[in-house]
Amino acid sequence: MMEQDILKIGSEQIPYFRTEQFSNLMLENEMLMNKCVKASESARVIFLTASGTAAMEATIMNLFDTSDKLLIVNGGTFGTRFKEICDIHGFLSEEICLDHGEILTNQHLESYENKNFTGFLINMHETSTGVLYDMELVGDFCKRNNLMLVVDAISSFLADRYDMSEYNVNATILSSQKAIALPPGMSFVVLDGKAQERVLRNNVKSLYFNFKNYLLDGLRGQTPYTPAVGILLQLRERLRIIDNIGVDKTVEEVARIAQDFRTKIKGLPLMIASSALSNAVTPLKPIGKVPADEIFKCLKDHYQIYVCPNGGSLSKVLFRVGHIGALTEDDNSELVNALIDMNKKGLL
Ligand SMILES: *Cc1c(COP(=O)(O)O)cnc(C)c1O
Repeated sequence: MMEQDILKIGSEQIPYFRTEQFSNLMLENEMLMNKCVKASESARVIFLTASGTAAMEATIMNLFDTSDKLLIVNGGTFGTRFKEICDIHGFLSEEICLDHGEILTNQHLESYENKNFTGFLINMHETSTGVLYDMELVGDFCKRNNLMLVVDAISSFLADRYDMSEYNVNATILSSQKAIALPPGMSFVVLDGKAQERVLRNNVKSLYFNFKNYLLDGLRGQTPYTPAVGILLQLRERLRIIDNIGVDKTVEEVARIAQDFRTKIKGLPLMIASSALSNAVTPLKPIGKVPADEIFKCLKDHYQIYVCPNGGSLSKVLFRVGHIGALTEDDNSELVNALIDMNKKGLL
């Protein structure tokens, strides 16, 4: 859900963007974005008009090449996506495969110490199963082994504490449509100094996804190609609001909504299916007779409430309830009352 002020901006005319005014807006966006992820002084932001997956692919193309050896944490759909990207580009990679709902521990990492890896790819929150990884553990491992650390923080940013400097992260991938709560269409890659150096050295075989041009044009608050101007206007307002409240307070607010929901569903035949929850979503396994995808459909068709269904092998066993964006405790109550009603009618 988007805030009213943000929706209003979305209904206005789109200005011409090769102007000083728009450049200033972009420079402010970059400054506020760096502040939100607690990046180093020298960090820069790539503003990419494309969905999060494009930012994942572009980041890998710009930070690595066939001389690299990458370690991927794969606990679900988004971990698999990193692997697919590496394979398509012919980049050497190995996966740490986790079961659905399983957390990453030191034991998983131990056998990869001193094995000549050069990069580490992780989705801080594996959104498909709702597992939040221990970023301190990952950051320490990467520092010890001198690995370029790429974090897809798309679904955890603003929902869970995130500190790019503390976790030794070189590149952070974000997207407009999760907790930033803007329309889909833009993604953002925050690069520290080391990652920028690599971008400048790399030879990327792509026009649109070559970060060199973005870094250069970004110095004067521009992008090489026409961006989703409307979303960038909304982004500035959103970042200003977050900056006013404080990023930690924003995270606390999402945590409060998540906790409220998790308390309210106690007693319903639904099991929370993750041992390390993000505040962004609650993954739920129905323990009654009704499969998860039926519950999703019923909520949508009979109560006008959207939860997030799972795809593939998890479609019948798991659905997720999101806590990001402009949601309130009353929204939680409305959903929980619908679930209670369904339970009475034998639909849960
Ligand atoms: C939503 C999401 C993405 C982005 O997917 P797109 O549909 O390409 O925007 C990537 N990674 C994670 C962890 C996500 O939750």
